[in-house]
Amino acid sequence: MSQCCDQMAYAIGADDLPVSYSPRLREWGIQYRDGVSINMIEYCPWCGKKLPKDLRDEWVERAEKLGLSLWDVEDHPEKFPPEMLDDRWWKEAGL
Ligand SMILES: [Zn+2]
Repeated sequence: MSQCCDQMAYAIGADDLPVSYSPRLREWGIQYRDGVSINMIEYCPWCGKKLPKDLRDEWVERAEKLGLSLWDVEDHPEKFPPEMLDDRWWKEAGL
């Protein structure tokens, strides 16, 4: 996984920092204290680079074609093609 800078890469990997990255949706975010919700970020807090656009809409569109939704991925990941569960689907599509 390539990140914009070492600090971002470190923050994502650090369990005690509330920064998350979803390879599947290409989304970066700050976790709320409730431990569930994510507040998405568009710029890296450390180096200031604009992060690539998230692919939530594109992912949902593909899931819907399979008769699935964003919520199915939590409960029934086995229903999805494996490449849709990580960053392979958008890398393969050149997004
Ligand atoms: Zn950065």
